[in-house]
Amino acid sequence: MIPHPARNCQTIGWQQALAQAIRNPAELLALLDLPASLLPAARQAAAQFPLRVTHSYLAQIKKGDPHDPLLRQVLPLGEEQAPCEGFSQDPVGDLDAMPVPGLLHKYAGRVLLVTTGACAIHCRYCFRRHFPYAEANPASTDWQAALDYIAADASVSEVILSGGDPLSLSDSRLAALVGRLAAIPHLKRLRLHTRLPVVLPERVDPALVDWLGNCALQTIMVIHVNHANEVSQAVRDALGRLRGCGVSLLNQSVLLRGVNDNLPTLAALSEALFAHSVLPYYLHQLDRVQGAAHFAVSDSEARRLLHALRETLPGYMVPQLVRDQPGQTAKIPLESLKLV
Ligand SMILES: *Cc1c(COP(=O)(O)O)cnc(C)c1O
Ligand code: SF4
Repeated sequence: MIPHPARNCQTIGWQQALAQAIRNPAELLALLDLPASLLPAARQAAAQFPLRVTHSYLAQIKKGDPHDPLLRQVLPLGEEQAPCEGFSQDPVGDLDAMPVPGLLHKYAGRVLLVTTGACAIHCRYCFRRHFPYAEANPASTDWQAALDYIAADASVSEVILSGGDPLSLSDSRLAALVGRLAAIPHLKRLRLHTRLPVVLPERVDPALVDWLGNCALQTIMVIHVNHANEVSQAVRDALGRLRGCGVSLLNQSVLLRGVNDNLPTLAALSEALFAHSVLPYYLHQLDRVQGAAHFAVSDSEARRLLHALRETLPGYMVPQLVRDQPGQTAKIPLESLKLV
């Protein structure tokens, strides 16, 4: 075993916890008592899209189980190398919807800002794993072109901060950007798409909570949980702090083979979220990004699962099963698509 220092949310800051994320496949396997036979493939796949896992997330993974549903989300596998027809580098057409660097305008009333390429963990199925962050990012601190674009379009009422993970930015950079957004009179809502409250609950510290609680815009946070095992005590506490400052909490998940593609797992996920005041919002059909084909669940299976979920849970616990289609004006509910 590789010894690691005692970690305590109370005593180390989030930036330090973020910096301590595991990046070395050999270290991950050793910490989880997994066979070294997994290493060559993990190294190869990590050379394309690096491994990254926080210690808080790691603590929720069962040791010695190569099929653990949380491990599968982060462990680089040989399957990622297999080229697969229909799986591309930009599956959702992001690059065609970028009128100014870092700003995506695909849907009415909402624009999305790609605030950073950084994430606390690297999800192997991520649809932005090939996204050219270097080209998309406005010279990292200067958002002038994006702000001008929003200010000039009075139909935009909501700005979504996405990435990468917007909460991997420092409080001061976030506050600087959001302060300028809040000064645009027609903006009503700020939405944060973030996985940090789940994979790095330390991020939800008193300074962030204080800032969110005083934000001039109505604030929505869409977290990203795929399995109930991700909802640790530290995550519950972080969600409680967010609730306390008046943020509306929603969740999006991705339907992933070997992670959450069965009824008991999806039902337990919705229950775990709702127990902590998070509404299940979207269940995404996987975006067909190169390297993620082994996570795909067929559309017919996905619909069957959703139907079963609806027969099991109260309606408010059933997320919308959607797909992101290039060139469309909204995410498409799977019910409205022809079976393939
Ligand atoms: C998903 C997404 C949104 C938000 O869509 P909602 O249906 O409002 O959640 C906005 N812009 C882009 C580019 C998106 O991909
Ligand atoms: S946190 Fe989101 S953007 Fe970052 S790797 Fe995971 S899915 Fe991709």
